[in-house]
Amino acid sequence: MPIKWVDELPLAEKKIFCRVDFNVPLDGEQRVSDDTRIRAALPTIRYLLAQGARPICASHLGRPKGKVVPELRMEPVGVRLAELLGGDHRVLVTEEVVGDGVRKIIDEMREGDVVLLENLRFCPGETKNEEGFVKELAALADGYVNDAFGTAHRAHASTVGIASHLSIKGGGFLIKKELEFLGRLLGEVDRPYAALLGGAKVSDKIGVLENLISRVDLLMIGGAMANTFLKAVGGSVGASKVEDEDGLAAARRIVDRARSKGIELLLPVDVVAAGEIDATVTTVVAASEVPADLMALDIGPKTRALYADKLAGAKTIFWNGPMGVFEKEPFAQGTLAVARAVAESGAISVVGGGDSVSAVMKSGYAGSISHISTGGGASMEFVEGKTLPGLAALEG
Ligand code: ADP
Ligand code: MG
Repeated sequence: MPIKWVDELPLAEKKIFCRVDFNVPLDGEQRVSDDTRIRAALPTIRYLLAQGARPICASHLGRPKGKVVPELRMEPVGVRLAELLGGDHRVLVTEEVVGDGVRKIIDEMREGDVVLLENLRFCPGETKNEEGFVKELAALADGYVNDAFGTAHRAHASTVGIASHLSIKGGGFLIKKELEFLGRLLGEVDRPYAALLGGAKVSDKIGVLENLISRVDLLMIGGAMANTFLKAVGGSVGASKVEDEDGLAAARRIVDRARSKGIELLLPVDVVAAGEIDATVTTVVAASEVPADLMALDIGPKTRALYADKLAGAKTIFWNGPMGVFEKEPFAQGTLAVARAVAESGAISVVGGGDSVSAVMKSGYAGSISHISTGGGASMEFVEGKTLPGLAALEG
């Protein structure tokens, strides 16, 4: 059965276990320092409230590894959620994940209240998808909504186990939006279809490269990954970060595949190089002739112009992986230039990947990009063509 969405479920007066991704960063004073993920879940939570449901939100936070870690309690997340919900919604944060105390709080919920369970990963049964824990979670609610796209690639109690115990189940609006945009990348697309891949390693992204190479018209490579490609085709990459023989072989396979399928594969023609990552003095050199004492740390101006030109002509764009060490100002220009070109292209554009998303946010062009995926690992696995267990569990 296809996934039902939250707006197709009977919700009035039902207790709905709503798996969200509230795995947000906290600052030294235990305050939420980036609430993007909380905001992303608001449409679903607001909808549940508007339909008269009683939302029981639950998430993990950090990696407590099955034990109570006081610094990873959900309390600060609940405070921020209440601020964002506004009005007179109360957010009741439980001190335990499951049990009688939690059930009592849920039974006493008033209309408009939201319950936020304590950090799911305080319980070892969560990541083990352990049956006893699954049953305890399921016993708290009448129905299940999953809106945690960022953990959909994990088969945990709250993302997979619980779904088979509750017949009212479906996906939230965030997951719906993610599938709509990421799904497009693997289906019928407006062409030309361009993929821009960068970041750290070919070996991290080989699944994405292999799945996209048969679908795209144009593949552009940047970042440290480009060094492996350049070396694989016979270039000199100097002291650049470059992969071992497995990475080189993977790069060679992609080059061959592109050639045999007639897909345009672009590698950097010039790079911004320096002797070390903290350098302030940089030089632009030909991408295949990096001197032995220098490292390629960003794509160069000719490559920026070339990639921007190609992106301007694309109708569908997928981008993962920064073009350079964007965290350091001298090596941020390449990533900034492609962010701008993606934004100005007018194409359907999708950006995925943890570092890529933070680079786009920093660039100021986020507002002009069609979809910025909230799921780092989950969006990569989706684009690789893998089945995400959290989505499969909603289908059955
Ligand atoms: P994402 O999280 O978006 O999937 P990755 O984790 O693959 O992206 O890659 C991001 C990292 O790659 C960044 O920390 C960036 O500094 C690094 N990087 C990009 N280009 C280079 C380069 N030329 N040399 C070394 N590191 C690079
Ligand atoms: Mg990363």
